[in-house]
Amino acid sequence: MRILVTGGAGFIGSAVCRHLVGEGDFVLNVDALTYAGNLKSLRAIENQPNYAFLQADIRDEETILDAMRANDIDAVMHLAAESHVDRSIDGPDIFLQTNVIGTFRMLSAGRYWAELPADRREAFRFHHVSTDEVYGDLPFDSGIFTEETPYKPSSPYSASKAASDHLARAWCHTYGLPTVLSNCSNNYGPFHFPEKLIPLVTLNALDGRDLPVYGEGQNVRDWLFVEDHARALEAVIKKGAPGETYNIGGRSERTNIDVVRTICAILDDERPRPGKSYADQITFVTDRPGHDRRYAIDPTKIETELGWKARETFESGLRKTIRWYLGNDWWWAPIRETDKGERRGRGHVE
Ligand code: NAD
Repeated sequence: MRILVTGGAGFIGSAVCRHLVGEGDFVLNVDALTYAGNLKSLRAIENQPNYAFLQADIRDEETILDAMRANDIDAVMHLAAESHVDRSIDGPDIFLQTNVIGTFRMLSAGRYWAELPADRREAFRFHHVSTDEVYGDLPFDSGIFTEETPYKPSSPYSASKAASDHLARAWCHTYGLPTVLSNCSNNYGPFHFPEKLIPLVTLNALDGRDLPVYGEGQNVRDWLFVEDHARALEAVIKKGAPGETYNIGGRSERTNIDVVRTICAILDDERPRPGKSYADQITFVTDRPGHDRRYAIDPTKIETELGWKARETFESGLRKTIRWYLGNDWWWAPIRETDKGERRGRGHVE
């Protein structure tokens, strides 16, 4: 397929580009290269004949439309977004601009689909990549998100993603644009920007710095290895039915404090320091305002209907991730120079 991927210089988008190019699809990566975009994440494929990059803003509808026409695109996988909850608490404006208006412009450019001959129009997909955070939070001891769970977003980030999900569904219902949606749990893996929990804790541990855990660390997230997610997104865009939604998760619920302790245990093993454990650096800090207690994804639909299943357990994926950070400071050290992992999201809107 000839796939236009937005946000392909980001964490998940770059894993998707590497995966699809490896599968032989043509990928046009459209990315504005914000603070979160990094072309170094695409080093492995940048010279491949079936990969191309266009620096553009998803809000620039005409440029996106021209790119679809010029590259004979069969499908769009839309990942570009502002993605960090703590940043959305400090400055929600850009989240509405990018996630809501940006998705609206992408859907408008999707009118390209109507120009295609009948057989290609039939096969065309506009895949909107979203998050399980649109469902709000669950009690600690019960409940799971299915595709039928009502939306109840808590943060400016998740509210903006919820709005963009509704737009994608409305474009299918109103204009017939063949949209498919996926809502995914927390990803982790190589090339993850070091402001997010797992890389932040790993790199702070190696630096001998505090390992900040919000509240008492009892919040639960359901973790998915990013390369499992990339394969799931490929299944959705190639086999998903228009108008459908697929929840994607790795059946790996963990409390935040468990995640941090597991990282410390793996580092004690991989990079031991005599007489000391990395766990000694754990510190508890004031909780994030509006912090959702628990997310848990039921991935039964994608498993049964599209034949996808996560391959990594949390422990195997986490060890791979930590080994990647230990061996790839060329990627993360320049980012840490400018972004020192200071606390964001205390609740003061800029
Ligand atoms: P990321 O922040 O790592 O990357 C986002 C990318 O989008 C960056 O490369 C950035 O340059 C680009 N971008 C931002 N604004 C843009 C604009 N206006 N025009 C063009 N490009 C722009 O994000 P991620 O973690 O890879 O997440 C990708 C998608 O998956 C997002 O839509 C996010 O909501 C969703 N998602 C993420 C997770 C997760 O755990 N990271 C979980 C579920 C869903």
